Amino acid sequence: MSDCLFCKIAAGDIPSSKVYEDGQCLAFHDIDPQAPTHFLVIPKTHIGSVAEVTEDNAAVAAHIFTVIAKVAKDLGLDSYRVVSNIGEQAGQSVPHLHFHVLAGRDMTWPPG
Ligand code: 5GP
Ligand code: ZN
Repeated sequence: MSDCLFCKIAAGDIPSSKVYEDGQCLAFHDIDPQAPTHFLVIPKTHIGSVAEVTEDNAAVAAHIFTVIAKVAKDLGLDSYRVVSNIGEQAGQSVPHLHFHVLAGRDMTWPPG
């Protein structure tokens, strides 16, 4: 999608601090980290949010979870939180599917 920030990051048109990349997805550090480790994992194809995951595009979503597990292991994370905000009330500010991976500090529950 031409005016989507994360599509531009996925295409390399906007630089990011990459953690991992393959043909289907990209992981990069969040520009405003909320924990000592905070990276995002996105599909390279545009999907608006978890609400737009369907049987037709679910393979990339499943792949992203394997990437989260691999990158977390490679970074030596033994405890971390995976978050995806869907819609304005939940705090989604970029309308391209992304999973936050946060680690390195005590977390509270429930989230605010
Ligand atoms: P959301 O608010 O949609 O759940 O998460 C969007 C995340 O993207 C936020 O944590 C925000 O800090 C991050 N973000 C927004 N713009 C950029 C950017 O240009 N580069 C990077 N690396 N992160 C961004
Ligand atoms: Zn997009």
